[in-house]
Amino acid sequence: MLFLGLEQTIIFYIEAFCFGNPYIIGGNKKIMAKKKVVRSRKKSPAQKKIALERISELFRQAEKIHVESQKLADRYVSLARKISLRYKVSFSREQKASFCKKCSSFLVPGKNSRARTSNGKLVVQCLNCKAYRRFVYK
Ligand SMILES: [Zn+2]
Repeated sequence: MLFLGLEQTIIFYIEAFCFGNPYIIGGNKKIMAKKKVVRSRKKSPAQKKIALERISELFRQAEKIHVESQKLADRYVSLARKISLRYKVSFSREQKASFCKKCSSFLVPGKNSRARTSNGKLVVQCLNCKAYRRFVYK
């Protein structure tokens, strides 16, 4: 009687192993389910082109909206910066000069930024956070 019982359990285990009883080889299944999905970080040229389009559109909208809402313009700039980081695209010269790198606010000369020249450089000060940026003009 005891011998038969042992044999039955062995058969049960073999069956479980072959047909995948989740109660017995559950631990094994868990490991198999933990398959790591590795996605490529490299962005295709098409993606980069779309990113550049979106960035320029955001700057265009920020230029329009800053008269009504400076907050919204700042938000557009921070979104554009996020896109440029994710898709590894850089801003144009004009775009770079139109926002504060420290506080991401959209700079409008005479409103929230001050531009002066010194030692052959254009010094732009953000009046929100008082950060300076220097540009070489051509
Ligand atoms: Zn600033």
